[in-house]
Amino acid sequence: MHSIKITKKGLAWFKSGHPWVYRDDVIDDCRGTACLPSHGGRAPTSIDECVVNVVSESDKFLAKAFYNPHSRITLRIITRIDEPTDRPFWLRRIKEAVSYRESVVKATNAFRLVFSESDLLPGLIVDLYDDILVLQITSLGMELLKEDLRDILAGLFNPKAIVLRNDCPIRRLEGLAEEKKLLLGKRPGLTEVFEGDIKYLVDAWDGHKTGAYLDQRENRLITANIAGAGLYVRPKTSGLAPTRVLDAFCYHGGFSLHLAKIAGEVIALDSSLPALDIVKKNLELNRIKNVIPVNAKAFDKLKEFAGRGEKFDIIILDPPPFAKSKTQAKAAWRGYKELNLRAIQCLNKGGYLVTFSCSYNFSEEDFAGAIKEAAIDAGKGLRLISKLIQSKDHPISVTIPESHYLKGFVLSVQS
Ligand code: SAH
Repeated sequence: MHSIKITKKGLAWFKSGHPWVYRDDVIDDCRGTACLPSHGGRAPTSIDECVVNVVSESDKFLAKAFYNPHSRITLRIITRIDEPTDRPFWLRRIKEAVSYRESVVKATNAFRLVFSESDLLPGLIVDLYDDILVLQITSLGMELLKEDLRDILAGLFNPKAIVLRNDCPIRRLEGLAEEKKLLLGKRPGLTEVFEGDIKYLVDAWDGHKTGAYLDQRENRLITANIAGAGLYVRPKTSGLAPTRVLDAFCYHGGFSLHLAKIAGEVIALDSSLPALDIVKKNLELNRIKNVIPVNAKAFDKLKEFAGRGEKFDIIILDPPPFAKSKTQAKAAWRGYKELNLRAIQCLNKGGYLVTFSCSYNFSEEDFAGAIKEAAIDAGKGLRLISKLIQSKDHPISVTIPESHYLKGFVLSVQS
């Protein structure tokens, strides 16, 4: 097994608990594959070549890691113990991830089984949708372990199909091709799953991400509860105007389906027509009649609502990431501010704004700052009721800031 030395700076970073070592912190020792591309090194082609010992400048063993000389993240730590990284090792790691889910996931058959570095499985995502597993692989090491992973997961879950959703651009940074293929079984159609007392359809082959936004699962339930528990929500029998909800980036209608129970009317808005087709199917599946799917761009529609003086009692804003890199943070600030400003203008006094940012490159402080500016510009007071994060099956590792990407606020409009 190759040993790769890291610099003193790399060692300090390693000691902070972060599982990545960047190229600049790798001392190029130029032996076979253990050599950076600038020195003619090639990428490992087998898992045995890919797993290396990470050592200090004084040759002290530090960890075992996946090595990819073609990635800026050149080493991804697998274990800080000198132990075999054979098939029983990976089986154990996957079983640990599954056992954690058994303790935190309730009332659903659609959730994330493995969340990459947060589960000590760098570059591996595994999502479960009833009897289908969907994998996404974003590290060279996991790519080279693909067949072992398939066998381990097939043994544990006996799934009808295992889909590989490797159609994500981030793979290019590892020198891996984008692809979509089956590791087991037949290509699945729409899969019905449940989340609390609603059902929804998942398109594991063509849907966004691995088919659904599982990271919002708990927030959908929390939102229905926050709004439903308060006296603010007017009973349908009260003679007052029914509660109106706007789910502004609805995808397949996740939030709308849950909020339909407590609202008089829900507008489920999305700019994607295929997404709205599934919303309609989901409404039929749940026999829901008070959700209206609308195909429009959220910015335009909110402006139109504000112009007409149309008001809502709850607005959910769950847009795609505005900042895909640090350099986009400034533009993202303007985007989040503008979007939230328009939403605040469309909320009744006492109404709720449930607003999210899924941009890792946009911090919670930045997000709070953009919302504060929006409130000032709208001339409204906002009360912060709750802070939200991604669901527990997408665990945040305290030593990996990148693992905390989803931030949300529940706010109420004071005046
Ligand atoms: N809230 C959803 C996930 C939303 S993902 C859930 O819980 O499942 C973001 C969605 O925003 C996608 O469906 C995408 O089609 C939609 N979208 C992107 N840009 C948009 C825009 N300008 N206006 C409205 N929807 C948009």
